[in-house]
Amino acid sequence: MGCTLAMLRSRIEHIRDFDLPYNLTAVIAWSADSLLLAAFLLPLWLRNRTRVYVLYWVFALLAQGIGLALLTVAGRDDLRLIGMIAFTGLIGARALSTAGLLSLCGEDRPAAFTSVIVALWFAAVVVSRLAGFDSVANVASFYIAAFAVAIYGFYFMAKNQHALRGPFRQSLMAIFVIEALTCLALLSAYNLQQEPPSLGSATTSIALITGFVLFSLKGFLAVWLTVERLERDLRDLAFSDPLTGVLNRRGVVDEIEKMSQRSAKSDQFAFFSLDLDDFKSINDVHGHNAGDRALVNFTHVVRQCLRERDIFGRTGGEEFAIFTRVTDRNTAGQIAERIRSTLEATTFHEDGHELKMTVSIGVTLMRGRIGNIESMLTEADRALYQAKGDGRNRIVFYDGPTPHPAQSTDREVALAV
Ligand code: GH3
Ligand code: MG
Ligand code: MG
Repeated sequence: MGCTLAMLRSRIEHIRDFDLPYNLTAVIAWSADSLLLAAFLLPLWLRNRTRVYVLYWVFALLAQGIGLALLTVAGRDDLRLIGMIAFTGLIGARALSTAGLLSLCGEDRPAAFTSVIVALWFAAVVVSRLAGFDSVANVASFYIAAFAVAIYGFYFMAKNQHALRGPFRQSLMAIFVIEALTCLALLSAYNLQQEPPSLGSATTSIALITGFVLFSLKGFLAVWLTVERLERDLRDLAFSDPLTGVLNRRGVVDEIEKMSQRSAKSDQFAFFSLDLDDFKSINDVHGHNAGDRALVNFTHVVRQCLRERDIFGRTGGEEFAIFTRVTDRNTAGQIAERIRSTLEATTFHEDGHELKMTVSIGVTLMRGRIGNIESMLTEADRALYQAKGDGRNRIVFYDGPTPHPAQSTDREVALAV
């Protein structure tokens, strides 16, 4: 045991004494790699300038490339300014890459965050120089500011619980914790060491390796998140209606399938088929654009009458569908009636004219998992057809091969089960 420790100690001494030329090579390679990646990423941002996080990564890689390149010549007393610029680049890279990653998770002021970190670095340099820590001022201040980057990243993720899902969130938080700890460890290592920081020291080797691994992990997460977002955007595009923003027919069917798979045998659901009454006349009287706006307004009215988890979408021109979990026929009737009466009572304004709309609703009820969605749509459509035939602006339940119009009054649903 004692022998092994002695061997280990002599090994470390050897590494210390040995001015590692590898570090210089590693820094040059990393710098070139960063600059190349920045050049590759730039066209990606130019193609779609709404992806601000890509621009942040371009700047992060650029700052890192320049910072590392200057680091190879900094360190001499007569090159103090170069050292300052090198470390500004390095801390800028840390802040910018983290800002880019956080902006993917909803951070809306990444520029302010980056500026605060760079300002903190400057302040730490000034204070440590005034305090007499001249030779370690740049490095120590870098780790103080980098520590702040990690702590803010962790705080942001802890505060914004919904910013990211499970494994992404945990991985990112773990990265920030590791980053904060390595910053503290390296800060003490550089401060404790007798000689001024040098590129060839063992501490710098560790600093370079951890810096590289953390930066790569963040980059990997950013790429992964970007792919996820792109897939989500594509999915949204395929499953939503461009005019109203609600689900389209495909989206409705897909969401129903998902909700149905999560449901128990005893769960009861209602499916509504809605069709605006005499919609053609709105187009004829007010024009097609007004008709479009009326469709959008209609979706707002319906959304107000529904719960967040209810499935609502546009299945055709002026046709819509709703799928919702209900406790019994009564609740289904109440929801449908709320939509019908709210719309009837709402006055829309179109080019100085008042515009009213009404809707006919066909309702079908079912229990447990939905085996055949198409037949459910057909049942509700049959009930809807009956509602149209009975005079429009009313609700009809599908009660078997022959749908029954809602009873009690002319327009209200029979609320008895
Ligand atoms: P009913 O009460 O029988 O449903 O009568 P309706 O006029 O609503 O039904 P019809 O099927 O005769 O006409 C539907 C109209 O909806 C015709 C079409 O121009 C209009 N429409 C369909 N999609 C859109 C759209 O995206 N925008 C606009 N402005 N109008 C649309
Ligand atoms: Mg129609
Ligand atoms: Mg219609």
